[in-house]
Amino acid sequence: MTIEEALSKHWGYQTFRPLQREAAQAALDKRDALVVLPTGGGKSLCYQLPAAAGEGLVLVVSPLIALMDDQVAAAREAGLAADALHSNLDDGGRGDAYRRLRAGRTQLLYVSPERLLAGDLARELAPRLALVAVDEAHCVSHWGHDFRPEYRRLLEVFDGFPGVPRMALTATATPEVRRDIIGQLGLRQPALLIGHPDRPNLVYRAFARRDQLAQVLDVARRHEGEGGIVYAQTRKDVERLAAGLKAQGVSCAAYHAGLPAEQRRRAQEGFVSEAVDVVVATIAFGMGIDRTNVRYVVHANTPKSMEHYQQESGRAGRDGLSAECVLLFSAADLAAHRRLARQGGALAPERERALERQLREIGRFAVSPVCRHKLLTEHFGASYAAASCGACDVCLGETRGLAAAEALLAAKKILSAAWRTEGRFGCGYVADLLLGKADERMRRNGHDRLAVFGILKEAGEASVRSWIDQLVVQDFLEVVDGEYPLLRITRLGRDLCQDRGEVRLGAVAPAARAARRKGKAASKAALGGGDEALFERLRALRLRLAREAGIPPYVVFHDATLAEMAAARPQSLAALRAVKGVGDAKLQRWGRAFLEELRALPSPAQSAKLAP
Ligand code: ADP
Ligand code: ZN
Repeated sequence: MTIEEALSKHWGYQTFRPLQREAAQAALDKRDALVVLPTGGGKSLCYQLPAAAGEGLVLVVSPLIALMDDQVAAAREAGLAADALHSNLDDGGRGDAYRRLRAGRTQLLYVSPERLLAGDLARELAPRLALVAVDEAHCVSHWGHDFRPEYRRLLEVFDGFPGVPRMALTATATPEVRRDIIGQLGLRQPALLIGHPDRPNLVYRAFARRDQLAQVLDVARRHEGEGGIVYAQTRKDVERLAAGLKAQGVSCAAYHAGLPAEQRRRAQEGFVSEAVDVVVATIAFGMGIDRTNVRYVVHANTPKSMEHYQQESGRAGRDGLSAECVLLFSAADLAAHRRLARQGGALAPERERALERQLREIGRFAVSPVCRHKLLTEHFGASYAAASCGACDVCLGETRGLAAAEALLAAKKILSAAWRTEGRFGCGYVADLLLGKADERMRRNGHDRLAVFGILKEAGEASVRSWIDQLVVQDFLEVVDGEYPLLRITRLGRDLCQDRGEVRLGAVAPAARAARRKGKAASKAALGGGDEALFERLRALRLRLAREAGIPPYVVFHDATLAEMAAARPQSLAALRAVKGVGDAKLQRWGRAFLEELRALPSPAQSAKLAP
């Protein structure tokens, strides 16, 4: 079978995603490859296609045991003979997997690195291998965000299969990580298949945080009945937000490392099986989540770095349908990250510099009135050509940049207030000064008689606070950590006051309102009005079938496939097979049930005829 035939037969897709064909072909040509595609880019097909098309066994090393069973279920739904070997299998499951493996029936075998490194497994597999794939390959690198020591020992094993091509896959590829992967996994003149990091189906929004719960709730309300993840920094925040959402009738669960394992497992399972819509979590949640129809990810606190943000927000919209990523920014979060990082004592100078750079970059991303797709793309070393993405708060006109002269004027007012207070007061104090809100202390300090007192009264508190944050991330101001964080002007700031340099400031628009109007149920926007009801009925059917089969709903069909069914309303099995995402195996297993549901409604052609 060719890889084109495999794509249609097993997955019901007619077109490759970028680089999928090249990656699969490299394996068939016995070449090593490094595949870098963003989350949702379709990495799994890169190694599954050779398994479907080829003769031999494809071995997949994956660090995510929690995910393996779902991956195996999904591959089996596509009609592949897939199995997994890891420490969580019961004896029966393990015995069956070995039996199929020894009978030569297995096409795709997932293993954890620990399992592969132990015992004789590698030697036993060697003669039959057509490809070894290493998923989440950045785990091999100290530079990545999730270093796994066992990944460093994989090369010992791979040396035992010299003639077998290797494929490393990851979503992160800074040059350091890339170099590490190639070196540590011993890739031999690999084909470098580096995809574009942009995720056009994600709508990015970044707002200054004002009222955390209200702002999170606002997003959740736009996506009623849809899957979402809310990330918060501390366990306390997680519990407070989860309780707040629940009180407002949102179906949600809390997840953090301090909860009993049983409760964590329930939250995760509830989310994957769509019994729960929203999980509020610390970043501990997500690595083991493969739910493809997550329609939104909210960061209720500022993430640690651009890499973290891309990884975490990337869990939205893996099915390719529109999804929303909202970041609520506060400069205080950056200070908290700093404090946490230094908790164990002073950092090495190199780590210290890296930390500061990471915090500055994520801060700049969050507050600059510049297209967020462009900022993210450029951060990951690619260029972004479009003038407007049409999918971020800036390009949608929800966040407006101030005109250059206006921005400079506002910046100078704030900077001179910081200058006059000599770095001895915090952000709140300086903001109050600019807003003309004098308290006892300010009067005592004589600051109510400064020329800058009340000079930004008209702009309002939200704007002034956000502008201070914006000036901090652009290095015109710095927050100095002490008993209390103090706001101080920098060299760059003093230069700016003397008209040397350039500043950009975003206006704090009534953004939440704009977003509510424009972002309504983005995933359903692709459907015509009448199809929405049918889409929901197909979703309900899917949920029922998935529960009966004991597999996650997205493994039956993706939302994108249901949406296409609802729009096209196929009336025969042949027509159903033509829908993207319906391959031979799924047609056989689920075709009749879905057809019945589709036939229960008149087709669009029939209803047109029936109309008077
Ligand atoms: P990644 O591992 O890169 O995050 P996945 O392999 O999970 O991405 O794929 C994301 C989604 O894209 C899956 O639901 C998959 O079925 C879908 N997909 C992959 N390849 C194609 C394709 N060629 N056409 C349409 N959908 C695809
Ligand atoms: Zn944009």
